[in-house]
Amino acid sequence: GAERTKNVLILMSDTGGGHRASAEAIRDAFQLEYGDEYRIFVKDVWKEYTGWPLNDMEGQYKFMVKHVQLWKFAFHGTSPRWIHSVYLAAIAAFYAKEVEAGLMEYKPDIIISVHPLMQHIPLWVLKWQGLHKKVIFVTVITDLNTCHRTWFHPSVNRLYCPSEEVAKRALLDGLEESQIRVFGLPIRPSFCRAVLSKDDLRVELEMDAQLPAVLLMGGGEGMGPVKKTAKALGESLYDQELEKPIGQLVIICGRNEALAETLKSLEWKIPVKIRGFEKQMEKWMGACDCIITKAGPGTIAEALIRGLPIILNDYIPGQEKGNVPYVVDSGAGVFTRSPKETAKIVAEWFSTKTDDLKRMSENALKLAQPDAVFDIVKDIHELACQRGPLANIPYMLTSSFSSLIY
Ligand code: UDP
Repeated sequence: GAERTKNVLILMSDTGGGHRASAEAIRDAFQLEYGDEYRIFVKDVWKEYTGWPLNDMEGQYKFMVKHVQLWKFAFHGTSPRWIHSVYLAAIAAFYAKEVEAGLMEYKPDIIISVHPLMQHIPLWVLKWQGLHKKVIFVTVITDLNTCHRTWFHPSVNRLYCPSEEVAKRALLDGLEESQIRVFGLPIRPSFCRAVLSKDDLRVELEMDAQLPAVLLMGGGEGMGPVKKTAKALGESLYDQELEKPIGQLVIICGRNEALAETLKSLEWKIPVKIRGFEKQMEKWMGACDCIITKAGPGTIAEALIRGLPIILNDYIPGQEKGNVPYVVDSGAGVFTRSPKETAKIVAEWFSTKTDDLKRMSENALKLAQPDAVFDIVKDIHELACQRGPLANIPYMLTSSFSSLIY
């Protein structure tokens, strides 16, 4: 009947921590808002269904961001639309059958892409299948500011932009105003809806109850000058004269296990917590008073929701560069690449310049968009309702269809 559960396929890729976090945020918000009305699949279709290079996006991405010049080239080198179109068309022709099988397995009524390279091929497949008028396809951009043009595909039903700046770029690239919505970056509901007391969190996380706390991290992969900054903070947050700490430090290394091991082998004069990949970032952020991070969009949006002033100490060239002015120009943080400078700023925030810290925290809260993920799923739900009953989407048997194009 018309009330059958609708299938939602979220396409993501495990490059960094951000895309998966956004995908899971959308999944969780669907479940909270609509329960059984939707069945959600979060899939890395490339990894599961294609060969190189698509199945190794994660490996390639890690390799490239470690070799910054290469990544710069890949990012800017693929910007003109004709280059990436030709490249993607070649890949699409090669892997169409596999991607198609991947898509069809989940019989999606709605497809949500949270990755810049997951519009073209799925949309082609839908077109080939004659399903592009039946299946709703939306893109959720997860870069705050300077995003890559591969995000913009004119055939989407909706493009969700995290900021006006991104929406402007989409308009320039040929999308219609009616396709675009600006709600903010989708953040896991556990973040947005959490009512957490700092005191309780400090007890739970076994932190010092009194000392102000700084959170140091570098995205899902633990990137950026984390080690040097940690060492500098170890000095700057220790008052030599009074022989006691003026602050405490939490370092979250993400999947960078080597970093965590190294940091644990050091001697510290201040209270320090060193952690690997944490599942409950909202707790650590809720327990701290400011954050130092590379300019990852996910971490920034989360920190803003928690009202944490941000010191940005690095960015991935290309997609993360624009996140710096996004934070700095709104007075929610500062940018410096120098670990010494970073350590000095935090020490001042915790001693003589507590007013600065407070002001930046207020600015951060003003910039926060905790409801974005709910606005997005409600809008998708409305789209689905407008389509009327989505039942009976004629998914063909993959084998018979494939024989048509091969
Ligand atoms: N994150 C996490 N646990 C960790 C480290 C990071 O859950 O131990 C999350 C973090 O909260 C954020 C995402 O991973 O949601 C990182 O995304 P961001 O866009 O900041 O950077 P990326 O890792 O994608 O480069």
